[in-house]
Amino acid sequence: MNTSAERKMGQKIARELFRDPDYIEDPVLDEYVLDIWKRLLAAARQRGELTPEMDERFAWEVLLGKDRTINAFALPGGWLGLHLGLISVTATRDELASVLAHELSHVTQRHISRLMAQEAKQAPLMLAAMILGAIAMSKSADAGNALLIGGQALATQNSLNFSRDMEREADRVGYGVLTQAGFEPQGFVGMFEKLQAASRLSDSGNFPYLRTHPMTTERIAEAQSRLQLGAPRPAPPPDLVHTMMMGRARVLSNPGVDVLRGYVSEPGSGSFNSLGRARQAGSLYSAALAHAKLRDFPQAHAALARLGPLVAGDAPAARQVSLLASEIAFQEGDLSQAVQVIDKAAKARPELIYVAQAQIKSGRAADAAQLLQTQVAVSPRDAQAWLLLSSAYSAQGLTLRAIRADAEARVAQLDYQAAMDRFRAAQDLVRKGNADHIEASIIDSRARAVDSLLREQALER
Ligand SMILES: [Zn+2]
Repeated sequence: MNTSAERKMGQKIARELFRDPDYIEDPVLDEYVLDIWKRLLAAARQRGELTPEMDERFAWEVLLGKDRTINAFALPGGWLGLHLGLISVTATRDELASVLAHELSHVTQRHISRLMAQEAKQAPLMLAAMILGAIAMSKSADAGNALLIGGQALATQNSLNFSRDMEREADRVGYGVLTQAGFEPQGFVGMFEKLQAASRLSDSGNFPYLRTHPMTTERIAEAQSRLQLGAPRPAPPPDLVHTMMMGRARVLSNPGVDVLRGYVSEPGSGSFNSLGRARQAGSLYSAALAHAKLRDFPQAHAALARLGPLVAGDAPAARQVSLLASEIAFQEGDLSQAVQVIDKAAKARPELIYVAQAQIKSGRAADAAQLLQTQVAVSPRDAQAWLLLSSAYSAQGLTLRAIRADAEARVAQLDYQAAMDRFRAAQDLVRKGNADHIEASIIDSRARAVDSLLREQALER
C-alpha cells in the first residue's frame, strides 16, 4: 500500500474520530502532547526513520479522546489516537513520550501498510470500518471481553494486531527516537512495568492498550537491557508540569461526581503532606479543576492559592497555574479576571484561545476576531479557533463571515459535506442580497475547493 492510499484510509478513520462524542479539543493538553510529539518527529527525521515522503504525505496529528481507558493507537496515514486515561497513569513525561515514540515507530516502519497489504482482499472501506469497530470496542471493558470471545469479533481483532516482531521493532526504533529527542530512556521501562502490573490485575479491561500490546517478559527484558547499555543517569528533577497535566487528564476524562469528590478531598487527606512537590502540585491542580466542575468556586480558589507557592520559581509550571486560574475565572463568569491572569507575553495558543473566548463573552468580539484571524492565518487547520472566530463574527452581526468560519472548522475536521452545506447556505444569503462582495467571492472559491475534495472522496468509494 502506498503512502497516498494509506493517508486516504487514515482520513476516513480520522473523520469519524473527530465526530466521536469522546473526541476532545483542549488547548492545554493539546499543546502539551503536541510538544512531545513534535520533539519525537524531529528526532525520527534526524535518524532517517521519518522519510521526507512520509513527512509530507502523512498528517502527523494527535487526536485526544476523553476516555478513561488506557489506550493509544497509531492509525494509517500518521494520525494517532490517545486517550486521556493513558495520560493520567503516566508518572513522567518520559513515560508518555515512550508510548508516543512506540506508536510513531509503527507508522514510520510502515507496519500499518504491511498489515493493510496482508488484508488486501478487503476493500479499503471495510478495513477502515474494521479499525473503527475495534476502536469503539476498546472503549468498553465489557465489549472488550466480547471482542476476545466472539468468533467473528476475534477475527477482526487478529487482523488488526501487529505481529510480535513488529512490536519488538517498534520498541527498538521507538527507544532510539525517544532518547534522541532528549527524553529519559527510563520512560520505556517505567511504562512497561506499569502495563505489566496492570496485566496481573483482573480489571485489565481498563487497559485496552494491553490487548494490542501484550506485555511479554521478552519485551521488558529487552527494554531493561537497552537501559543498562546507556550510561547511568541522575534522576531527573521533579516535573511539575507533567503531574499537573496528569491531574488535568484525570478530571477532563469525565469521571463522574463521586470520583471528582475524591480528587477534591485528596489535598486535605493525611497522606498529602508526605507527597513530593510535583505530586502535591498535581493533586492541587486536579482538586482546583474538580471544584470548579462541581461549581464550588470558593474552594477552587482555595486550591489555586495553595498551588501558587508550590510552583514559584518554575516558570512553565507557574504558566500552567495562570492558565488554570483563567479557566476557572471563565467558568465562574468573572470574564475580566479570566483575561487579567493570562500572561500576555506568552503569546501561545492556549493563552490566545482563553483570551478570545473571554472577550467574546464580554462584548469585545472585534478584539477577539482580530486575535483569531491571526491564529487561523498561521494554522488554517485549527478548528477550535475557527469556531470561536465564527461566534466572534456572529456577535458582530457579520453573518456571512460567521458561516464561512464555521464551514472552515468542518473542513479542518475533514467533514467536507457539512462544510459544503454551510457554504451553500452562505451563497443563498448572498443571492438574497447580503452584499459583502469580497466575502462572497472568498466563499465561492472555498466552496469550489471543498466541492472538489468531496468529489475525490466520492470516487474512493
Ligand atoms: Zn505496538
